[in-house]
Amino acid sequence: MLRAFSAAHGLADPTFRELETRGSAIGRIDGKDVVNFGSYDYLGFNADPRPAAAAIAAVRLYGVSASASRLTAGQRPIHRSLERKLARHYGVDDALSFVSGHGTNVSVIPTLVGKNDVIIYDSHIHNSASVGASLSGASLRSFAHNDLSALEMILEENTSGYRAALVIVEGHYSMDGDVPDLARLVELKRKYGFWLMVDEAHGLGCIGTTGKGVRELYGLRGTDIDIWMGTLSKTLGSTGGYVAGSNALIDIIKYEAPGSVYSVALAPALAAAADCSLDLLEAEPERVARLQDRGRLFLDCARMHDLDTGHSVGSSIVPVMTGNPILAVAASQSLLERGINALPIGFPGVPVNAARLRFFLTAEHSEDQIRFAVAETAKVLAQLRNSPVAELMRAIGPKLT
Ligand code: PMP
Repeated sequence: MLRAFSAAHGLADPTFRELETRGSAIGRIDGKDVVNFGSYDYLGFNADPRPAAAAIAAVRLYGVSASASRLTAGQRPIHRSLERKLARHYGVDDALSFVSGHGTNVSVIPTLVGKNDVIIYDSHIHNSASVGASLSGASLRSFAHNDLSALEMILEENTSGYRAALVIVEGHYSMDGDVPDLARLVELKRKYGFWLMVDEAHGLGCIGTTGKGVRELYGLRGTDIDIWMGTLSKTLGSTGGYVAGSNALIDIIKYEAPGSVYSVALAPALAAAADCSLDLLEAEPERVARLQDRGRLFLDCARMHDLDTGHSVGSSIVPVMTGNPILAVAASQSLLERGINALPIGFPGVPVNAARLRFFLTAEHSEDQIRFAVAETAKVLAQLRNSPVAELMRAIGPKLT
């Protein structure tokens, strides 16, 4: 939709925008340095030489590919090193890595539940979890975003006829930058006896004083949650996914999830980079504090400029709501011309009338870069609201809602 709007109205295509450098606080697009808010390098590990050196050393030692599935062709010590660290990070028995975060959800959810079960998920859950849920064959129910009273109503009415109920939420929502009330979810879990799965793709390193994720925010233990899922591609500056939990859970997934049994192991270099980043996360918690400072600064500046940042808690993800997708695309292009890379998000990532510019912050952004980006965003949106784009929005807007 964003692409079609852009083509029809003479705007540059915002999709597949080419970054010519590492995705971090500064990037280069079309040969020009820009302040980059389009990458998930939340703590700066993608720009840090240490995980890169660990990856290079792993390539020298193990080669580029792990060649085959671990079940049949064996694993490398770096896989277990990373998984033991992930398990320790969550305070649970064990963890298992996969080649893709998206693939982890798609593969793991149908392994755990099936036709006689029910999955109840937050309506803002990531596509990977909803695809996994659909493939599982379980009955599906969803509740309005972060509305745990709605969840409880579903639990009251609906779970008795099923073998098991799985509730899926995110620890830090990727489109809105808000968090669930995990303490209440754990209470509901105790009352209704469902399995609770938390996708911590954007929680790890960003939420909680030392970046332990959403459980740290609520003072919960890792074992209060049945299934932790996450990706290596955000804070850990690598690529791949993981699940962490009890020995029983990991054993089932190891031997039954198609992404474990029938897919190649995570590339050793990617495991090594994530392993090193996880060490750095523990050793340098000041990065987490800096990221959260920058997030709060963004929200404060946005408030001063009257920008709508939705429910963002002010960590690594801050949306600036435009409502109209044309405004999001046009604003993104104007910002790029001013040296700021912030990408527009439209349907189906978000509801059709809830388009936005999405800013990913990193601990490497300076305060000045944040102030500059927010001030320019406010200027650009004000200008566009008084320009021919506004005509277009008025003409097309009602059809979108
Ligand atoms: N879960 C969530 C909440 C995500 O936002 C994403 C990707 N943005 C994924 C899973 C998939 O992870 P990956 O991109 O590492 O495959």
